[in-house]
Amino acid sequence: MTKRIAILGGTFNPPHLGHLYIAEQVFEMLNLDEIRFMPNAVPPHKKVTEGISDENRVELVRKAIEGNSHFKMELYEIEKGGASYTYDTMLELTKREPNTEFYFIIGADMVEFLPKWYKIDRLMELVTFIGVTRSGFQLNTDYPIKKLELPLFDVSSSGIRAQIKADKSVRYMVPDNVYYAIKECRFYES
Ligand code: ATP
Repeated sequence: MTKRIAILGGTFNPPHLGHLYIAEQVFEMLNLDEIRFMPNAVPPHKKVTEGISDENRVELVRKAIEGNSHFKMELYEIEKGGASYTYDTMLELTKREPNTEFYFIIGADMVEFLPKWYKIDRLMELVTFIGVTRSGFQLNTDYPIKKLELPLFDVSSSGIRAQIKADKSVRYMVPDNVYYAIKECRFYES
């Protein structure tokens, strides 16, 4: 039996309800078997992950997906370390799991950059891209991706980090357990 799995790759710095919401919608609308959250490995000097290690981001993702039996984690890129091209990752995953039909979820903010992705034409032979709507972005592309118009869920990791830095609450933008972990470890505070 062929399994149908969608990958949601991201920095997840931190994971938020927008990620969980699009993942759940895609799972249901496409009648998939599994959604796999795949945190990127980010070199420590990259500004986006200042103040938080790969391990801690992974831990936050683990907490975020806890309790949803069709949400899983893909640690391939984290374990490999360093920046990875999605093409290389998906080539490896398709080799490892031959009886699987892979989908790859991206928000509309990423859709506009698809032409710049490494070996995009070959990547598109390995996965079906699912582009989902995101506040402030058009879901426009010449590539044959599957477009899902979801109600907008206007939350972003960068917005959350900025909010914390400004000493404002991010409660209800992230799952409760993620909220408490961020607070306890004082992530993103300065
Ligand atoms: P940042 O604000 O730091 O850029 P982000 O909120 O976009 O982060 P990522 O981990 O980079 O979070 O996102 C992973 C994937 O989820 C990307 O494809 C992104 O477009 C998508 N995504 C994130 N948040 C939303 C949202 N609220 N609605 C739709 N797509 C989203």
